Amino acid sequence: MKIRAGVLEHGFARLMREAQCGERMDREGEIHNGFCIAHDGVLDYVDLQKHTGGSSVLVYGQTELTRDLYEARDRLGGKVVHNAEDVTPHDIDSGAPFVTYRVGGETMRVDCDYVIGADGFHGVSRKSIPADKLREYERVYPFGWLGVLSRTKPVSPDLIYVKHERGFALCSLRSQVLSRYYIQVPLTDKVDDWSDDAFWAELKRRLPVEVAERLITGPSIEKSIAPLRSYVAEPMRYGRLFLAGDAAHIVPPTGARGLNSAASDIYYLYHALLDHYQNGDDRGLDGYSARALARVWKAQRFSWWMTMLLHRFPDRLAYDDMLQQTDMAYLLSSESALRSLAENYVGLPF
Ligand SMILES: Cc1cc2nc3c(=O)[nH]c(=O)nc-3n(C[C@H](O)[C@H](O)[C@H](O)COP(=O)(O)OP(=O)(O)OC[C@H]3O[C@@H](n4cnc5c(N)ncnc54)[C@H](O)[C@@H]3O)c2cc1C
Repeated sequence: MKIRAGVLEHGFARLMREAQCGERMDREGEIHNGFCIAHDGVLDYVDLQKHTGGSSVLVYGQTELTRDLYEARDRLGGKVVHNAEDVTPHDIDSGAPFVTYRVGGETMRVDCDYVIGADGFHGVSRKSIPADKLREYERVYPFGWLGVLSRTKPVSPDLIYVKHERGFALCSLRSQVLSRYYIQVPLTDKVDDWSDDAFWAELKRRLPVEVAERLITGPSIEKSIAPLRSYVAEPMRYGRLFLAGDAAHIVPPTGARGLNSAASDIYYLYHALLDHYQNGDDRGLDGYSARALARVWKAQRFSWWMTMLLHRFPDRLAYDDMLQQTDMAYLLSSESALRSLAENYVGLPF
């Protein structure tokens, strides 16, 4: 399985607790009250608690979250179908939608009140909406992130975002014995082009000397390249199909918003469905797309801004470099700018 998200907004953690799935997350997740930005050979600390009046983020791996959710589903006796093939939504613009899938050579049918398409960017849900009913916004960035997971002590207890003339880097972690590091690479690079030694050498070049000297390296236990993309499909509802998460929107991982945005969609949908079934009130369902998109676009803006601030763009102008440097200098010298960064990083309210 690909190792992805690790930084959870405090609102997401609250949602996990509300769903009674937060026990292990609270026990094993790590509270982070801030993070570092490395630039020009120096390290600056962004104090999330100070700039948000007490908020923080939780570091807890997406693979662990998924395990907790599966276990909670099992406790409730819910049915999860694995290895389903040819999953297809039908009649989603009618009052009686249904989904078919194939498992073990047999075709199955599920009749539904509503279908929730939470099947990621490459799933079938969004593709089952007629093209003329969907508006798509997209930006593809001219680089990717090469990520390595290693069973080594993290170089720092805090995440370090690195702006460097050789390209962006990120020192992240899953726990105090499991490190996750990333470096910006050209889109043409393949994982096989990067031996572990080459990865560690390049990471060290991009870190401030005092950090590079502390870095403990080891064999990679996972290595992959993720392309960076910003994407939004509107609206997030078509008939009785509701899109949620990466099925409707993607952000570059720079601001750690992707999984968090999926969670806020689910928060809105969950409460809308409760209102529908418990009170016969459809306002939440009718307003879902507009409400979710308002927050989605703010996550898009923040992720785009973090990406522009920290990455090295090929074909950039000298003017762009100066603006990027000025953006960094302004950020680190302005209480208001730091407050805005912190407010977005811990997560805007649902
Ligand atoms: C390198 C990297 C780092 C990241 N770091 C962060 C972070 O720190 N914080 C953060 O918030 N986000 C982060 N993200 C983003 C985050 O991982 C995604 O936004 C999140 O996984 C989206 O969840 P989802 O459930 O919408 O989609 P997915 O996680 O993609 O899940 C979709 C599911 O649908 C299933 N599926 C797909 N197609 C079909 C089909 N045809 N039929 C049936 N099932 C199907 C898939 O098997 C999968 O189980 C990161 C992403 C990357 C790549």
